[in-house]
Amino acid sequence: MRLGRWILPIVASLILVACSRPVSYNQTIYVFGTLVDITLWGMPREKAREHVASLASRFRQMHQDWHAWQPGALRELNAAIEQGSSVAVQDDLRLLIERATQLQQRSGGLFNPAIGKLIALWGFHKDDPLDGRPPPHAHEIDALVSSNPTMNDLIMENGEVSSRNRNVRLDFGGFAKGFAVDWAIEELRRQGVANAIVNTGGDLRAIGDKDGKPWRIGVRHPQGEGVLAAIETVGDESVFTSGNYERYNEHQGVRYAHIIDPRSGRPVAGITSVTVIHDNGTEADAAATALVVAGVEEWPRVARSMGILHVMLVEENGTVHLSPSMVKRVEFQGEKPPITVTSIRGK
Ligand code: ADP
Ligand code: MG
Repeated sequence: MRLGRWILPIVASLILVACSRPVSYNQTIYVFGTLVDITLWGMPREKAREHVASLASRFRQMHQDWHAWQPGALRELNAAIEQGSSVAVQDDLRLLIERATQLQQRSGGLFNPAIGKLIALWGFHKDDPLDGRPPPHAHEIDALVSSNPTMNDLIMENGEVSSRNRNVRLDFGGFAKGFAVDWAIEELRRQGVANAIVNTGGDLRAIGDKDGKPWRIGVRHPQGEGVLAAIETVGDESVFTSGNYERYNEHQGVRYAHIIDPRSGRPVAGITSVTVIHDNGTEADAAATALVVAGVEEWPRVARSMGILHVMLVEENGTVHLSPSMVKRVEFQGEKPPITVTSIRGK
């Protein structure tokens, strides 16, 4: 009798405590041609579900607007550039162009989103580039390279964009995901979310923590299965990897990767991937792509000029190059690869 009177309130308050405890909410959506995994911590499930739904619908819009070869705002702009005319663009596309121009500058032209014609010439403006086609003719590549398309060819006037160079074709595949992830995190922050991770197929930005513990993420092994290294994020950090191992074409046993060196007009060879940790996704994504182009010799100089401290570059032969700051951040899983540490100061 007495016991019965106590049990009910105790059970009820236990349930209440359990329900009000911050929980982790995780949802995966398919957008940007990849799985985007969003985890929010420390809010009621219903609220978290609403946040994810609103991010998902904005992501879908971005994907359509900025797609390099499917119908949308960017394709319209590219068509206008090719015809030598101008077109009005929305604020977010204008912002994307401005950021791309700055980042091209800071990368010394290695990150160059104006080389869409070269990327298309190599067969990457389609959903599945692996069709075994032969590489393009040298004279076609060289003609595009010598016409030198860059972001500086664009003219923005009264909300309209045109180009001095008709060979400019914009392709934001090298950093649009970083830009989108930044937008998502900033939007979540505006809504009062303090702990979140937005992960677009392994490229992510994380804020806060999970129940007082850092977010722990895995960098996929570029040459096989599993995880190469684990990284714990601190505060607000983005981790982006650009690789030559996922999107490529193969012809007569030679692989042609989707990252193109704007100086030669040819795919980068010998570099498997570059992972960057930085305080925002836009710069991390652009830098990861630029550092793949920079390669073993030039990555320290390009990282320095882009203001990137944490770099891990994986060579095709398995050697891993690390900046000193990155040494402290990566925890290799399984067998430790051969490692070279290079300072990015004054080289
Ligand atoms: P992922 O999409 O695998 O994350 P990246 O961020 O490295 O890869 O972006 C690669 C994409 O960037 C290519 O598919 C192409 O659209 C574009 N790209 C290729 N070379 C360059 C370059 N030198 N500068 C800017 N963008 C590039
Ligand atoms: Mg990139």
